[in-house]
Amino acid sequence: MKNMISVKVFSSQDYDKTFLLDACPDDICFDFLDAKLSEQTAILAKDADAVCVFVNDRVDKAVIDKLLGMGVKHVALRCAGYNNVDIDYAKQQGLMVSRVPAYSPQAVAEHTIALILSLNRKLHKAYNRVKEGNFDLNGLLGFNLEKKTVGIIGTGKIGQAVCRILGGFGCKVLCYDPFPAHDLQQANLQYVSLDELITEADVISLHCPLNDETFHMIDAPRIEAMRDGVMLINTSRGKLIDTKAVINGIKSQKIGYLGLDVYEMEEDLFFKNRSTEIIADDVFQRLLTFPNVMITGHQGFFTDQALSQIAQTTISNVHLAAASDVEHDTFL
Ligand code: NAD
Repeated sequence: MKNMISVKVFSSQDYDKTFLLDACPDDICFDFLDAKLSEQTAILAKDADAVCVFVNDRVDKAVIDKLLGMGVKHVALRCAGYNNVDIDYAKQQGLMVSRVPAYSPQAVAEHTIALILSLNRKLHKAYNRVKEGNFDLNGLLGFNLEKKTVGIIGTGKIGQAVCRILGGFGCKVLCYDPFPAHDLQQANLQYVSLDELITEADVISLHCPLNDETFHMIDAPRIEAMRDGVMLINTSRGKLIDTKAVINGIKSQKIGYLGLDVYEMEEDLFFKNRSTEIIADDVFQRLLTFPNVMITGHQGFFTDQALSQIAQTTISNVHLAAASDVEHDTFL
């Protein structure tokens, strides 16, 4: 009989269950938990070989100590970003950590474009108007994306996919990345300094990871340097943006459009139906009052193809960790 590998899946949703069980071989036993991983809930991982976590589960020193104390050997992130994991400490303590580096850059890139197009053509308003029999076009005026300058901050897998799509729209694309992608060659695309991108772009879209250097990279002085009426899009991580500074930028009309798929304080907000709750986050509630702001709840990754790929890579990582075979690019 095969040795079963026991995996506790934290912050699990119905769709995680569907895709993981669909791809699950008979030597892995998934246990699906609603709870988010934290110091308080880590005890739920008792007797597991691995825990499977998502973007808002916290894997800090205290959690790592608890997991190791219970014999957990592997943290399998079912996402690409790992800013919620204390990687240095995990490595030092010998806890294996894996992730899904590239499940579908196209999924997030296409969602980025959906935000740009929806905000520009005010589809959120148009949809409601037509539903109510209001066919007035006043207030719905948009602009042609063709020939507009779009600034892409971070040209990794997702940023590059966005650049390719924008090429089809005939945009001028300005990129900033400390490690430029030399094979990213397109007509109307050039790398520039961050300052130049910030001052020149009509649309700015963030595609870099969250770390000490990028925390609040969009702050009050950078917003002040932007073009009047700029469109700002963030589908990366909420803390790249100083949300209060952005609210001031919207109030002063410096920022003309804001599209977010991620939010600074999303940890205690997103991925749950809170429609009958009183939301206590005043900053988030203020954002929702603006007519030129569109927020989605971290759904950029949420396509059929991406979830299948996440499930397959996560299962492969569980097998690799069980064999202590961690010399792969999916292990950190
Ligand atoms: P990636 O690692 O392929 O690319 C990140 C790029 O950012 C790299 O080229 C890197 O050099 C660059 N970079 C690093 N520091 C930078 C800085 N200071 N300024 C500008 N660029 C910098 O990552 P990816 O797969 O393209 O993902 C990008 C981000 O998207 C992830 O870090 C994650 O936070 C986010 N993401 C969001 C969703 C979602 O559902 N909304 C899904 C997946 C990933």
